[in-house]
Amino acid sequence: MIIAVDGPTASGKGTISKELAKHFTLPFLDTGLLYRAVGWTLRDQGGDADNVADALAACQFDSALLDNPALRSEVIGGLASRVSVHPELRRALDKRQKDFAYQPAGAVLDGRDIGTVIAPDADVKLFVTASSEARAVRRFEEMKRRGELVNFDDILADILKRDDRDQNRAAAPLKPAEDADLLDTTNLTIGDAIQQAIALVNAKISRRENNGPA
Ligand code: C5P
Repeated sequence: MIIAVDGPTASGKGTISKELAKHFTLPFLDTGLLYRAVGWTLRDQGGDADNVADALAACQFDSALLDNPALRSEVIGGLASRVSVHPELRRALDKRQKDFAYQPAGAVLDGRDIGTVIAPDADVKLFVTASSEARAVRRFEEMKRRGELVNFDDILADILKRDDRDQNRAAAPLKPAEDADLLDTTNLTIGDAIQQAIALVNAKISRRENNGPA
């Protein structure tokens, strides 16, 4: 079974995806980390994120980099969002994601274009979203907990900028697949969001079992 989870930053999709992978015993890939690793490597190489040749040169990163928690910073997230607009760069990261999605054991992948581009025939597609304010509050609390000095308005502005870039780029923009189930987590605790996601997957599986492929 392939479960594709897409959605904007801080929507809860990362936590939900990890829990789905645990619950259904499936391998999990956070595809945002691939773009973040490119952003990190590009910065190391002194490249320009808006230059496609520099972005492509940064694709040759060591897989061990994916385990580096520093990839999760806001700065690297911003660079990831900038390099991800290049179609050539997206194509260079395609095979790795598709191989992961279509491995015999099945998989859960989270990202922006999993249900639309990477695994368009995924068995289950979830689009996880939340209001920009709710997402900014979550990011604010998370950064405060890490002891980072943060300003709420800056975080909200950054989220809006990232949404705009991800939704309006020409290549694989962030949008729900036509057959995706929407999960709005604005007013949900993370525990409730996980339970609802599991229920949506189970409902989709039983619909498929009763009717054949939807
Ligand atoms: O999900 P995460 O915040 O780690 O992703 C960082 C950035 O990488 C996103 O803002 C997005 O621009 C890009 N990305 C993408 N396609 C994916 C995953 C991430 O374009 N499948």
